[in-house]
Amino acid sequence: MIGITGLHHITCIAGDPQENLDFYTGLLGMRLVKKSVNQDVPGTYHLFYADGAGHPGTDLTFFPWPDMEPVSPGVGLASEVGLAVPTGSLEYWQHRLGRAGITTDAIVTRFGERVLPFADVHGLRVALIETSDAREFTPWAESPVPADRQVMGLHAMRIVVRELALTTGFLTGTLGFTAAGDEDGWHRFAIIGGGSGRVIDVAEEPRAARGRWGTGGVHHIAWRVPDDQAEAAVRERVDAAHRRPTPVIDRFWFRSVYFLEPGGVLFELATDGPGFAIDESPDTLGETLVLPPWLETRRAEIEAALPPLQTPVVRVE
Ligand code: ZN
Repeated sequence: MIGITGLHHITCIAGDPQENLDFYTGLLGMRLVKKSVNQDVPGTYHLFYADGAGHPGTDLTFFPWPDMEPVSPGVGLASEVGLAVPTGSLEYWQHRLGRAGITTDAIVTRFGERVLPFADVHGLRVALIETSDAREFTPWAESPVPADRQVMGLHAMRIVVRELALTTGFLTGTLGFTAAGDEDGWHRFAIIGGGSGRVIDVAEEPRAARGRWGTGGVHHIAWRVPDDQAEAAVRERVDAAHRRPTPVIDRFWFRSVYFLEPGGVLFELATDGPGFAIDESPDTLGETLVLPPWLETRRAEIEAALPPLQTPVVRVE
């Protein structure tokens, strides 16, 4: 089936943008590959963290909305972002996060992989997950984290729904996922055989309240499609399943389609191209505020409304 090939990016809601930048670049050592604005709310930053080359599938993005209430967890939301790290690196991460004052949970094993869960500086649940799977990954040479310990990209997502069968039927029947095992109440689904960046875990909570977006929460999960043709094919299947996908929206670095899966979680399809280097040199990604062409005429006004961002101070060595 022509279609989804894995996770493309995850977008979350943060508090203060400087604290978000310090955490993901200064502490987690990810590269800020794009500093832009929310295209629908241009008074808000949109910060993109990824590997050294900004590969699709490595990208964790944030809308910093410091005035928003904290996320209210519940059904219809993603509850955790899983990031891939090299096998054998969790003790390094435990130490690094601990030195920075971040409390981590105990290291656990999930689906045969070692996992270090914790909450980021604004309460977002993150899990570092060890993997030896092959990935498209370019270390970031200027990262404060050594190349053999760096976050390699998106590994897995956890979502919570009220009625499992509705979501899993959609994942398998419409999006092309296959069931890949159950563990501790989590039902794993894999795309094109699974592996790092190609799984989603679903839990059913029939009595939980509807979750509400807020700081420390996940806004949406974007899935990779290789090109416009694959995106159109998946969009058509989503439409046939009455999930009312949006038209294709040009996000400049990729082209997107949005829809709610039946459990209420916001999904996106995003093309692999054109990519983050379309409007900046690969060497200087993320260094200046980049606006899509249709917002360029409002640059002065937009820049004046945004809080200044300083290069992060690395808090641990
Ligand atoms: Zn997105």
